[in-house]
Amino acid sequence: MPSILHVDMDAFYASVEQRDDPRLRGKPVIVGGSPQGRGVVAAASYEARAFGVRSAMPASQAARLCPHAIWREPDFDRYTADSRRILAILRSTTPLVEPLSLDEAFLDLRGTERLLGPPEGVGRALKARILAETGLVASVGVAPNKLLAKLASDLDKPDGFLVVREGEERAFLAPLPVERISGVGKKLGERLESLGLRRIGDLAERSREELERILGSAGGWLHDLAFGKDDRPVLAHREEKSHGTERTFERDVADASVLRRVLLEDAEEIAADLRGRGLLARTVAIKVRYPDFRTVTRSRTLDVPTALAARIHAVAGELVAALAPRRVRLLGLYAENLLDATGARQLALFGEEGDPDARRLAAERGMDEVRRRHGPGAVRPAALLEPAAVRAPLRPPRAGTTSRSPSSTPARGGRRSPP
Ligand SMILES: [Mg+2]
Repeated sequence: MPSILHVDMDAFYASVEQRDDPRLRGKPVIVGGSPQGRGVVAAASYEARAFGVRSAMPASQAARLCPHAIWREPDFDRYTADSRRILAILRSTTPLVEPLSLDEAFLDLRGTERLLGPPEGVGRALKARILAETGLVASVGVAPNKLLAKLASDLDKPDGFLVVREGEERAFLAPLPVERISGVGKKLGERLESLGLRRIGDLAERSREELERILGSAGGWLHDLAFGKDDRPVLAHREEKSHGTERTFERDVADASVLRRVLLEDAEEIAADLRGRGLLARTVAIKVRYPDFRTVTRSRTLDVPTALAARIHAVAGELVAALAPRRVRLLGLYAENLLDATGARQLALFGEEGDPDARRLAAERGMDEVRRRHGPGAVRPAALLEPAAVRAPLRPPRAGTTSRSPSSTPARGGRRSPP
């Protein structure tokens, strides 16, 4: 019986905006920066996606594709509040819930059938409850493992519900284009296509040895995947240890300023999330994957734990800069060794008079509060992130502080621990 569920909210940030502002319903809504800015799209409503707008697309490109779209600055505090409500619903069913990001999670329902009924029914009930209690639509995939469950929820979007049964793995995967595989970007996709490997089924027809010979280490990984093999467990307690985000770029990125901008956006999201959960990170880690799939991770443990975007960004920037400059296909940023932001540690953080971190934390917290009271866009987060901007009284919106438009389109991946 397929017992792994993947629950993924549809166009999450944009859907929250549409729920909270009836004027946005049925309209193309883009969350992220401004159309004139140099940021990227954080989320697009399905009405905007109909024009080809995708998340992680440069704002300028999205504005060209859908000139009449309504833009909203991201309000991660509000999204985090909804994320918590959704997680609470999932956890009321089983403690075996692994959140991947603010808007998606895996559930392991193995062995719960006698208590809860078939996992398929549990999935349908969760979908209905999330809609009833949050007004937001989730897509759900039910499958024998994580790989298939995630593909299943993704394939049937929006408002999806798809079950993959044992024995159906290969048939389910075979017709899918290889680009559906998370980790297969444009470049590897083109390479595969030139080898006549267009669909996942084409990969299953080659031997493992052959794929390894022509594709190196990626070959073995792709071969397992083509057979739907995935034995990764659902890790229920991971979020307490590590919290982060990964992006696979559609085209490899060599431009350090693009990497820096991506890190800035990720740091801001992670920090707002940490503050929303009352957590501090003791360690900042990055993961970089190169076009040949070689992957390196670097981390630094801080003297003072932090929930500050500016601090996380600064450390991550140094860690990435210390790597030899090369083309990058995946960039991940994580906050690790998370601590409860109460008690002695917090006192220590506030204890040092004139500590720039303490001042910044107070400032970022104040920003959270202003946003809560006056709505998104009331403050400009990036003004606190760039040291120069702290002194400048007036700055363009958040997206305007980024250095340039991306030369490559980052696609957001799930939250993961570094390997
Ligand atoms: Mg989603």
